[in-house]
Amino acid sequence: MTGLLLLAVLADRLTRLASVSLSASPPAAAADTAHPGAARSAPARVSSVPPPPTADTRGTPTLDRLARLAVRQQLAQWGTQTYLDSLISTTDSVVRRWPDRNGQPLRVVLLEGGAAGYAPRMAGLVRQALDRWAGAGVGVTFAEIPDSVEADIVIRWIDRFDIDRAGQTDLTWDQFGRVRRATISLALHSTAGAALSDPALLSVAVHETGHAIGLPHSADSNDAMFPSTRTSALSQRDVRTAQLLYQLPPGSVRDVPSH
Ligand SMILES: [Zn+2]
Repeated sequence: MTGLLLLAVLADRLTRLASVSLSASPPAAAADTAHPGAARSAPARVSSVPPPPTADTRGTPTLDRLARLAVRQQLAQWGTQTYLDSLISTTDSVVRRWPDRNGQPLRVVLLEGGAAGYAPRMAGLVRQALDRWAGAGVGVTFAEIPDSVEADIVIRWIDRFDIDRAGQTDLTWDQFGRVRRATISLALHSTAGAALSDPALLSVAVHETGHAIGLPHSADSNDAMFPSTRTSALSQRDVRTAQLLYQLPPGSVRDVPSH
């Protein structure tokens, strides 16, 4: 089984998007597979090279001074029990997550089929992945709906990626760090063409769902958010990181020099 799981080595890219700029232009999703004409980021593992600051995130209004201070204090207080600092460094100091929904679930569409080799049981694997995060005490829950127009999260299957990855999540968020939409693409086969096992598909689904709720990568291979994930179980750090993310206000925590 280890060999099969290794096939699922995940070199996904959490697409940096393109928060809504102050000019009210629509978010420019930069998915390299879905939007070939859009700006491409390096098809390397996202953990290897944090993306440089972008003009988009620089335009993100910062939280007020006390809120920024509170966020920094909480990050320091939790220390290495979370990997949320990875989010702060990859988003140019933006706490980015779904806005509070007062108990309302995120609406999810599971698109069936889409690639040869798809079997209905695979939707069950995705539901397991959603259940794991919903059960983590983060306050984020999911409800399946049939219409992707109304969906917050769209999950689709593809045959394989051209580059070495098994899943990809494209997030769109606004200038206040509030996630507006997520699209998860899951591959049925490795880049070399081997069918991924159910445990591998589940691991990737758990990992990508973590991205869909806003989580960054972890540098620890015991965490589901490790880039080359081999586990479908959430670690304590996965759970704590998600909990902390949803305790913090979304927005820029960039340190702004006072004048
Ligand atoms: Zn990832």
